[in-house]
Amino acid sequence: LRQGLDKTRRNILNQLKAIVGQGPLNQAAVAEIEAALLQADVGVEATDYIISELQKKLRAEVTAPEEAIAFLKEILRDMLDQPLKESHKSSFAPDKETLNIWLITGVNGAGKTTTIGKISHLAQKSGYKCLIGAADTFRAAAVEQVKVWGTRSGVEVISNPGKNTDPAAVVFDAIAAAQARETELLLVDTAGRLQNKKNLMDELSKIRRIIDKKAPKAKIESLLVLDATLGQNGLRQAEVFSQAAQLSGVVLTKLDGTAKGGVALAVVQQLGLPIRFIGAGEGIEDLRPFSSYEFVEALLS
Ligand code: GDP
Repeated sequence: LRQGLDKTRRNILNQLKAIVGQGPLNQAAVAEIEAALLQADVGVEATDYIISELQKKLRAEVTAPEEAIAFLKEILRDMLDQPLKESHKSSFAPDKETLNIWLITGVNGAGKTTTIGKISHLAQKSGYKCLIGAADTFRAAAVEQVKVWGTRSGVEVISNPGKNTDPAAVVFDAIAAAQARETELLLVDTAGRLQNKKNLMDELSKIRRIIDKKAPKAKIESLLVLDATLGQNGLRQAEVFSQAAQLSGVVLTKLDGTAKGGVALAVVQQLGLPIRFIGAGEGIEDLRPFSSYEFVEALLS
């Protein structure tokens, strides 16, 4: 992870360490930290919050540079953990007692297909019975692409080869297959067309209705795959999705590239959604369950 985040770290947040490490944290240093956070895609709202928390701590306690860095890490960790009200454990542990259905959405190019492949591999490796439902039937090549990943991870892909296939029909078939095979994790590739929010909403709610009917006890997650290199533009994308889908979390991809990791803080602060996984590479192994501790250490140590 540290290696994957190398560029991200070098890009910006490391600046914070340099500023904080210089000596007593006076107002000038705080202003520099603020600028660095904004530059790191943390966004205005989350930056304001971090600065006000930092000021509170600084008023109350001594401020040797190491202590100030420790404060900053603590603030960032607390922020990232807030949506779940618990510490993020870096583990992959869907409930084995029931069927878990994860709806994966995201705009073209965000890394949705790759992420589904990576999660299916992780599931397989962790001893879960996994299936993939290819319900992004709108995009011509999507089904084929997801099948390529299924072959790589050794996870079967349920699709419906007919023309103009209804995504909800694929979900229906995929649940039937999952139930017949006592699958523990069903990953559903769902469309991510933002151009027409109403269509997207209709499609997703139809899928939800099928799940409610066919698998009322399933544990549902709805994950948005978000390209971290888009920075604040990605955040606006995420806002639209969170209005259209009942999202339960975000997968942040491409953190190995030019991304400024701050967008993770912006997502959490502004949307109240936890980051569930991070992608840091194109390979099947390049996905990690998100851990606030690891993330903050990777950025600031
Ligand atoms: P989709 O259109 O959302 O399904 O996106 P794809 O999964 O096809 O990915 C689009 C491009 O992003 C591909 O070239 C992937 O290899 C690349 N990609 C996906 N995830 C990552 C990542 O975490 N890091 C990097 N560097 N590239 C990624």
